[in-house]
Amino acid sequence: MPKVWVARGLKKGVLTSRFPADRPTSAEIPESALPPSPTPGADWRAGRKECPTGAIRAEEERVDLGMCIYCRRCSSAGFSFGEGAGQESRALQAGAVADVARATRRAFRRSLHVMMIDVGSCNACNLEVLNLSNPYYDLTRLGITFTNSPKHADALIVVGALNRAMVDVLKRTYESMPEPKMVISVGACAISGGAFTGTEGFVSPVGEAVPVDVVVPGCPPTPIQVLEGLLLATGRMTKATRP
Ligand code: SF4
Repeated sequence: MPKVWVARGLKKGVLTSRFPADRPTSAEIPESALPPSPTPGADWRAGRKECPTGAIRAEEERVDLGMCIYCRRCSSAGFSFGEGAGQESRALQAGAVADVARATRRAFRRSLHVMMIDVGSCNACNLEVLNLSNPYYDLTRLGITFTNSPKHADALIVVGALNRAMVDVLKRTYESMPEPKMVISVGACAISGGAFTGTEGFVSPVGEAVPVDVVVPGCPPTPIQVLEGLLLATGRMTKATRP
């Protein structure tokens, strides 16, 4: 049987993603995962009216990516999502990574154990995060592994809109992790509440319950975007890349 697998591997070649050695492909970060970017003629006020989450800050002429649910309603106001768009927004996305202490970065540079907790998601972010452990993304090749125990976790990935029942669970999970540790908020719901802001049961952005070090915007972000967040957090990348 092993011979069969070796023969198959030789025949098919390497199918695992080349990221981060190579830039992500357009299949890994498709157009639908690129954030909105204003075209030169964009109408910020019209965009604000269209935006269901208040992500478009017309007065400041900026898009708060932590609130954006990538619904594309603002396209009618001159916001673009296609090739050539999003360069500025991608830079913003990279800028959204908070300052992780240098000592913490150094500690996690080669080996990082990650635990994911769902505090009220629709399952979209969970699936994208867990995809990182499949053979295509093969997170372990980068020294990053998932764990189910907070006692073994260096980083906590939080997905979902924080609901009342999960506040204590989240806090206790965070407190159970050994130092040094970091928290990564993945997706609009965790970062800001997204589409669930103001709804019954929603408590607050995750950052108000536990200290958040890194945010990965998206609704949901792709596995590569989550991986970018992990690599940025550990100092193994310095800025987000584009397909
Ligand atoms: S894509 Fe949707 S949520 Fe994001 S800025 Fe545009 S209208 Fe707002």
